[in-house]
Amino acid sequence: MTSPPPTPPASGRGARQALAEATASFAQVSQTPRLDAELLMAHALGTTRESLLLRHLDDPAPPTFAPFVARRLDHEPIAYITGTRGFWTIELQVGPGALVPRADSEALIEAAVAHFGARAPATILDLGVGPGTLLLAALDQWPGATGLGVDASTTALDMAKGNAARLGMEARARFEPGNWADTIAGQFDLILANPPYIGTGETLPAEVRDHEPASALFAGPDGLDDYRLIAPQLPRLMAPGGVAILEIGSTQAEAVTALLVAQGLSVTLRYDLGNNPRALIAT
Ligand code: GLN
Repeated sequence: MTSPPPTPPASGRGARQALAEATASFAQVSQTPRLDAELLMAHALGTTRESLLLRHLDDPAPPTFAPFVARRLDHEPIAYITGTRGFWTIELQVGPGALVPRADSEALIEAAVAHFGARAPATILDLGVGPGTLLLAALDQWPGATGLGVDASTTALDMAKGNAARLGMEARARFEPGNWADTIAGQFDLILANPPYIGTGETLPAEVRDHEPASALFAGPDGLDDYRLIAPQLPRLMAPGGVAILEIGSTQAEAVTALLVAQGLSVTLRYDLGNNPRALIAT
């Protein structure tokens, strides 16, 4: 005896069918079309991706899914649509006006962990803190540390403050508007920075170019303008035995090393998981 065919959802398509359709359409805008579709469906259902895959594939597709798909087809980053992105050990709320945390930037935290070993930094400065990415990851890594995040964007600072509060770190994290360290007086054991480093003539994926803040991406014709401003400020900001760890574009190791060496600093290079030069460690 054959079993009856499954009953279709009362209205519209099921999640499984909607996921297949979205995946096919995302092939033109994303290198991870199936993952993107699953993340958006999980968000529309108010659940996790794991729970979607294990338990909800036969649920009806919620009406909020189609608008999310349309936004992704307009190249909007997934993290701006879901409003959240995992980085290192923390989950950050993100949105337009601040750079989406990238896995590549975890190389800076790895470099800091390798540098300090069994020790821990007591004071941390994040120049260009954005939504709080590097600072809050470092504060999660070292629960005894306090930190200061600086950014020229008040939108980014508001996001960072919200993230610090949600992560229960408001007592350990301060935030100040500023143009790099122009108004910062103290010294820090660990200085982190992911400044803008894209050359103004460089082409970026539409996802980045059309949605993320230009002020967090572009830094003059060779992408080095902000390193030229930051490098001279570092020596006075570094506590005795302190370290500054800067993210770089994959072709910039030599040029940025030269800027740091000119300030009397010693520099080593660290690669990211994609094996691209990604961080300079200056002591
Ligand atoms: N890594 C980013 C990108 O290529 C750029 C980040 C930055 O300029 N700091 O999109």
